[in-house]
Amino acid sequence: MLIQDEALVLRRTPFQESSLVIHFLTKNNGLLSVMAKGVRKSSRKGSDRRGALAGFHSVYLESRSRSLEAMGTLTNVEITTARRNIPATATALAAAQVFLEVAYRFSVAGDSRHEVMHTVESSLDLLDAGAQPLDLLALSLGVLIRGVGYGWQAYECAGCGGSEKLSFFSIRRGQVVCQPCGQPYTQRLVPITNNILKNMQKLAWPPPFGLLCLAEQALLYRIAVSSLVKAGGKILMTDQPFRAVIGHELFTQAGYTPTDIRLS
Ligand SMILES: [Zn+2]
Repeated sequence: MLIQDEALVLRRTPFQESSLVIHFLTKNNGLLSVMAKGVRKSSRKGSDRRGALAGFHSVYLESRSRSLEAMGTLTNVEITTARRNIPATATALAAAQVFLEVAYRFSVAGDSRHEVMHTVESSLDLLDAGAQPLDLLALSLGVLIRGVGYGWQAYECAGCGGSEKLSFFSIRRGQVVCQPCGQPYTQRLVPITNNILKNMQKLAWPPPFGLLCLAEQALLYRIAVSSLVKAGGKILMTDQPFRAVIGHELFTQAGYTPTDIRLS
């Protein structure tokens, strides 16, 4: 059977001497793994394909397989949207890798999630155009969390159901908590500002850059990553490298302590 789709490369795994298994996020087929034969050879054809499969471009792909279950072989791949600037900036590169990991972690074969694909692609576009990586991740991860089905409850307190003085966020519940309900449990809750609350409620797209101060960006990023870790059951490998290039101090000042993520 023939598959033709729009896609993003999420992962590349070397296979035998000259091939790669490519894990794509596709528009209509969800997560799709395809064998790319000979792309690690130094031939002309190999290097053209290698270019399309490297980096953070959107591509059009064709794959052929004997059956629905069998892994297909890549028969054509062309760049549809090139994003060549991302690898040139360490923070943009680290942020792009967070996006790809989240997309990989929360996608499944055969199940297309258009909001996730759209959010990841337009986030990569923004990174490529020079958007501030931490501001972008802080504003977009919540949209991805909603897209994969773990959306935040940001309007009503997890304790009393009220909508006044919402001042904390509970990672465990994925929900905001009001000041009176949260006061006895501040150790377990993340304090949130009004700015952060507004953003969690709206999840506007395109992202409203420049509204959150750096500390708020760091805190919202922390909330988002912790929520993803809770939803996925394991840490994000790209989180630590991203915080390292941004500077750990910022996250420490914002109260970022990775060990306080409780999976129970
Ligand atoms: Zn309450």
